[in-house]
Amino acid sequence: MIVTDDRVAPLYLAPLERQLADAGYATTSVVVPGGESSKSLAMFEKLLTAALEAGLDRKSAIVALGGGVVGDLAGFAAAAYMRGIKFVQMPTTILAHDSSVGGKVAVNHPLAKNVIGAFHQPELVLYDLDTLKTLPPREVRAGLAEVIKEGLIWDAEFVSWCEEHIRELLSLDRDALGYALYKGCGIKAEVVSRDERENDLRAILNLGHTIGHALEAVAGYGELLHGEAIAIGMVGAARLGVRLGAPQEVYEVTKRLLVAAGLPTAIPSHYDTDAIMKAMMHDKKFTEGTMLFVVPTAVGKVELNPNVSAAMVREIVDELKR
Ligand code: NAD
Ligand code: MG
Repeated sequence: MIVTDDRVAPLYLAPLERQLADAGYATTSVVVPGGESSKSLAMFEKLLTAALEAGLDRKSAIVALGGGVVGDLAGFAAAAYMRGIKFVQMPTTILAHDSSVGGKVAVNHPLAKNVIGAFHQPELVLYDLDTLKTLPPREVRAGLAEVIKEGLIWDAEFVSWCEEHIRELLSLDRDALGYALYKGCGIKAEVVSRDERENDLRAILNLGHTIGHALEAVAGYGELLHGEAIAIGMVGAARLGVRLGAPQEVYEVTKRLLVAAGLPTAIPSHYDTDAIMKAMMHDKKFTEGTMLFVVPTAVGKVELNPNVSAAMVREIVDELKR
């Protein structure tokens, strides 16, 4: 059963159906509306109904063709249907390199994001790089922010490589993009395989996300893409790292690379610092004046620091404003 959304379906569904049919597979397809609102229990039930109607059994598989929304939703249906059947991720966004690896699948609840889900690993993550050509340029840049993040948390050499190849990446050069996505997926897989259920290490994947999530929460709808918010968050984390003793280079490299990728690195000045701090306090990582923060210690290296003072974070937020 192929699951996709209504923007991806007209572009790529028919060729995939044809190729699977040619390979001898019987398929059925479900098209959900594009956008985060499809990560719902209602849509999850719709997929299970479609699966039952099509007669999927324990030997069947679900294929997610699309971005992270489709991957998370279809993956959760695969995790639950008959207590778990196989699933395949076919990401069509750059950001989905992140969501397709690691096995976290979920839908949203009206009260909170991603709170109803499972850990269910895909059999395969398969990128067709040609599908990325139809992505809006802003989605390309935002997706690259998470690719850059994989380098910043794990691999200084990959960070340098990104700097040298940023033009090729932005113009969707096949070789460069293929390498970067392979690397990005590989780093994510490596981190996750050492800590599948998020004890400690997996949290380093949240570099830039503490400030980033707060910015998303205070931004108006559609104002900041996720990747844009975490780009700003990563610059904040780099500033914090330097304050806590990391070499100045960490900040310079982080900012230079994100600027080269056409990503925002400053908080729009009309955002209210109090509101940003309040949003961060709602974040689960916050307790009594200190915060658990992913902090760079060198290029390609981070640590989880449980003692970052909220006051220092506030100063950083102010510094990030233009
Ligand atoms: P998305 O799936 O909404 O895709 C973004 C937009 O691009 C959509 O409108 C989609 O229809 C369109 N699109 C997709 N592929 C296209 C293509 N090739 N050409 C043209 N348009 C295309 O969003 P996303 O950014 O891919 O993923 C965001 C989701 O991923 C969020 O729900 C987030 O929670 C989730 N996520 C999950 C994990 C995880 O570990 N499970 C990690 C990160 C993000
Ligand atoms: Mg993210």
